[in-house]
Amino acid sequence: MSPMFVPGPVDVDAEILQAQTRPMLPHRSKEYEEIFHRAENKARRLFGTQYRVFISTSSGTGLQEAAVRNFARERVLACVNGAFGGRWHDVAVSNGKQVVRLEFEWNQPVDPQAVAEALRAQPSEIVTVVQNETSTGLQNPVDEIAAAVRAVSPETLVCVDAVSSLGGAPMEMDAWGLDFVLTSSQKALALPPGLALGATADRALEKAEQVPDRGWYFDLVRLEKSRLKNSTPATSAVSLVYALDAQLDRILVEGLQNRFVRYQRMAERVREWALARGFELYAPEGYRSRTVTTVVNTRGMDIAALNAFLLPRGMRIANGYGPLKDKTFRIAHMGELTLDDIETLLASIDEFLATG
Ligand SMILES: *Cc1c(COP(=O)(O)O)cnc(C)c1O
Repeated sequence: MSPMFVPGPVDVDAEILQAQTRPMLPHRSKEYEEIFHRAENKARRLFGTQYRVFISTSSGTGLQEAAVRNFARERVLACVNGAFGGRWHDVAVSNGKQVVRLEFEWNQPVDPQAVAEALRAQPSEIVTVVQNETSTGLQNPVDEIAAAVRAVSPETLVCVDAVSSLGGAPMEMDAWGLDFVLTSSQKALALPPGLALGATADRALEKAEQVPDRGWYFDLVRLEKSRLKNSTPATSAVSLVYALDAQLDRILVEGLQNRFVRYQRMAERVREWALARGFELYAPEGYRSRTVTTVVNTRGMDIAALNAFLLPRGMRIANGYGPLKDKTFRIAHMGELTLDDIETLLASIDEFLATG
């Protein structure tokens, strides 16, 4: 295997790739409904929710769209401190919502007090925020943000994008008072792309019933009617659900806490290496991601040349995202990666620096 240290799509374990080759079942068959039901039950544990998890045939962005269409008649407060928070803002705008964009520097966390103030100035039906900004390697304190929202505006629904963190960093949806949490299959869950999971609290679904023009494909009220029968309104991605079922078993056998510790150790090792080589870390202390590290390219390393050096060695890292291209680079430590993989990568980057 040639490890990819990019934040999605990540490498998928061979056993999980194999799980997809199981023969098709009709998506409206008892056998399939059992698998669907089982996968949903296991997924709930990852989200820390007693409610429900929608298994959507889409990537994660589809569920960003579902959130704004289902939970907001008009008003959305979008917290933006990176590219994916920015995307959620754009998704809301393009769905015709009235959106307040609460912007922060990309190397600063979303400030719970600023969110509370924004809600006082302009009430909103939902707040959107990204837990782990994959573009910057910054983790936002979504628990504190939810608490601040509740204190000012208890009826506002808190919607969280956990695409690159769910299964890689703690998530306690119910305990933290989050109303909707979404993720994609191809990042911290280490599955092939094509599925998204959306955990939805009762009160969020009740709100959706009051919102007109939710569309069809991502109408959560419609999805719920099917889910109660362990099914979906449209054809389910059968092979990907086999993979999800198998991967959730693997994750729960490893243990969520053990998994978080594995990522934490890799994150700490990458940070320590970067600082020791005279690089800086993009995200501030206390808000650094467990699943992806953004390193400030203070040494002016040629990132394209670095990847050209790594590729024949079976590895690849990610350049900085958008405006941060070449100014930063990103090393992902999510999915199936281990500390040994990270050591191999860092030794190769050292070799590259020595030849430079
Ligand atoms: C990758 C990513 C997305 C987009 O997910 P898709 O599955 O590509 O639609 C959204 N948010 C975050 C934080 C991401 O890392």
